[in-house]
Formats: sequence, C-alpha cells, structure tokens
Amino acid sequence: MLGSVQSTLWSLVLLVCVAQALPWELEYRLTAVKERLADLFKPYPGPSEVSLPPEFDSRPELFKLHRDIVSVESESFKEQKGSAFLRKYLQSKGLTVEYIDVRGGRQNVYAYLGNAKNTSVLLTSHIDTVPPFFKYSARKEDDGIKIYGRGTADAKGSIASQIVAFEELLQEGTIGEGDVSLLYVVGEEAGGEGMIAANTSFVESNVNWDAVIFGEPTTNALAVGHKGIYTFRIHVYGKASHSAYPELGVDANKVLIEILHSFEHAEWPGSKMLGDTTINIGLFDAHNAANVVSPYAAASVLIRVASTTKEVSKLVSDIVDKYKEQALRVEIDTIHAVEPTYLDYDVPGFNSSFLSCYTDVPSLGERGFKRYLYGPGSIHDAHGATEYVSLQSLTQAVDDYKKLILHALGKVEEDKE
Ligand SMILES: [Zn+2]
Repeated sequence: MLGSVQSTLWSLVLLVCVAQALPWELEYRLTAVKERLADLFKPYPGPSEVSLPPEFDSRPELFKLHRDIVSVESESFKEQKGSAFLRKYLQSKGLTVEYIDVRGGRQNVYAYLGNAKNTSVLLTSHIDTVPPFFKYSARKEDDGIKIYGRGTADAKGSIASQIVAFEELLQEGTIGEGDVSLLYVVGEEAGGEGMIAANTSFVESNVNWDAVIFGEPTTNALAVGHKGIYTFRIHVYGKASHSAYPELGVDANKVLIEILHSFEHAEWPGSKMLGDTTINIGLFDAHNAANVVSPYAAASVLIRVASTTKEVSKLVSDIVDKYKEQALRVEIDTIHAVEPTYLDYDVPGFNSSFLSCYTDVPSLGERGFKRYLYGPGSIHDAHGATEYVSLQSLTQAVDDYKKLILHALGKVEEDKE
C-alpha cells in the first residue's frame, strides 16, 4: 500500500543530507537519525533455510509459488526480476503473456488464454514491495502457521492465490478463453505509475472487462471502499536573526509548529462508511541552525480522506489563514488530491471491511466494470518488520477468489450457500 512510514523516514534522512548546516552539526544529525532508523526497522530474524512444513501439502502449488515469488526481491523501482519471474511462470502454464512498459525500464505483466485479450474478469495486484527485503520463512505458532517475509501479505499473497485460483478453475473446466485475464503491475507502493501506464495502454487498445478483482491484504474480506488522499507541502517564510535577539527576526519554525499543532487538533470530517479522516505530518523540514532564528520551515502532510478532498482542503486553508499574519508568507502546494474510492462488495458468503490506505483501484479508471478488492493477510502487518500471512488466510483466498470469479462471470455457485 502507498505511503510507507519507512520511505518517509528515509526521505527525512535525504532531506537532512541536503539541509544547510555546519559540518559538525550535519554529521551529528545524520548519525543520530540513521541510528534511530536502524533500530526502528530491524527485520524479523527468521531462519534462512527455506522449507515448507508438512501442513503445506494441502495445496503444494500455492505454497511453492508464494515462496518463490516472495523470494524474488522486487522493491518499488527495482521490480524487473519479479516481472520476469511472473512472465516465465505464466508462460509455462500456457498463457499468452505481454509486457506493458513502465518508466525506468520496468514492466507490468498482462496474461490471458489464447488470443482473447479482452476478458470478462480481470485479476490484478502489484509486484512491488516496500523496502527492506527480508527473507521468506514459515513457522508454527500458537495461532497457526505463519509465513514471514517481505511481500508475503502485501501483495504477493494476493498474486499467488489469484494465479492458483485461476489455474484450479481452468483445470476444473469452469473457465476458458475470454473469461479471465491477469495483470500484475509495478510501482503501486510509490505512486501507482505501473497501474496508470497499464490503464493508458488498455484504453488505447480498447481492452476492458465486466469486473476487476484487485488483490490487497484485506484479511479475506471484501473492502467496501478506501479513503482518498490529500497530500500537500506547507511552506512558511520568516526572517533570520541572531538567536540572542529573536525579536529582530520572524521565526518560521515557530509559526509552522503552531499551524501543525492546529492540524493535529482539528476536527476533520469523516464518513459513516469509511470512518475517520486522519492526518500524518510525515516530514518536518526546519532549516538552519540552533543559533539562528529560522527564516524558512516546511512540512509535508498526508491526510487520509474519508469525506471529500474539498471539505478537507477548505479546513486546511481556514487553519492556515489564522496564522498567516505571524509569518512573512505561508504557501500551500497541493501534491495529490484523490477522492475516496467506493467498491462493489455485495457478494453472498463474504464479510466486508473498509481500508484506510490508498490502493491502485482509482488508477485503473472507471470504465463501467465492477470493482472488488480482496486479499489474504492484514494491512496491519504489511510494511512492518514482521510482515506475514497465515497459511489459513492464503488457502482461504484461493477458495474465495474462485467464488468471486464465478460470481463475476455469472456462474453463481455461491448461491447454494
Ligand atoms: Zn499493497
């Protein structure tokens, strides 16, 4: 999912690198930040030997595929090995596989049976993961078998269970050419440019579907929707002076701190369906040195919007207006504003939930197809140092994807339930 805490913190390191500072001060700041980050992101020290426990015999193809794809490193912007692995795997299953090029020499993978590029249903998820990579390992715990490793849940659990659901339906003779295609994209964790490139390519070549099933860790529930985002950078301009004579300057840091404090304590408009609108001040960029009244300060803010971006951006401007007179100038640069996404979820036999995080769903556009969002594992475990998916969740996902595909194809097996 978009917006990893870690990449934000590494951006902070980069920012500290470029910030102007005295050499001793810069060195101190870099060392201190790096040490703290290293402590925060110690990966799970799993066993390096990869072996599958006997319980995995229930669906060997699923666990083998999941293990193999998790073992291929495919951090955002470095997904080439992941794309190549999937192309080879899907070709070996007899599918027609196309690469869709994405900026930076990266490729999305689109696969279908025979010549039917247009299918009724599309299964899709993302190849890329957040950093850092950590190895696949499985172990038995009190509450069942858990499979650890970067991407086990977000989103390689979805990829493996979608592909195996597709293969099983094919072997059972329930689906054929023209029914289901598969799309695995790059860059979901870093702005969604893989899905945006895929969408452009599909629009140009008139490819469309009746239903699209997106795979993200939703704890085996159908998501009713997810929040939108409003990201902006706020710049405060003041006037430098000697810190012994603060009355001669205008302290940009101080004004920014007060604005951000008000952001934190504001009543942001939420919604019944998607819950609260939440705010994250991910980056605080306070320039200069301890003995200088700061002439400039900036912060990057990301708001998860449960209502509308219009309401949220109005509240941001109202708050900023209250402090404008205390600085020489305050500016807001909107970086990204996307409304919440509402999904199809009324399928018999499924629980529903909502997601707070942003996904690739809006990047595929809206061209009349139904949109479902479902996957194994929990978003609460994704991106962290102990990312995992349980064996039970992964297995259930195959059964559920099969049900969803049949529901979307109108072969309504689940009505028997
Ligand atoms: Zn994801």
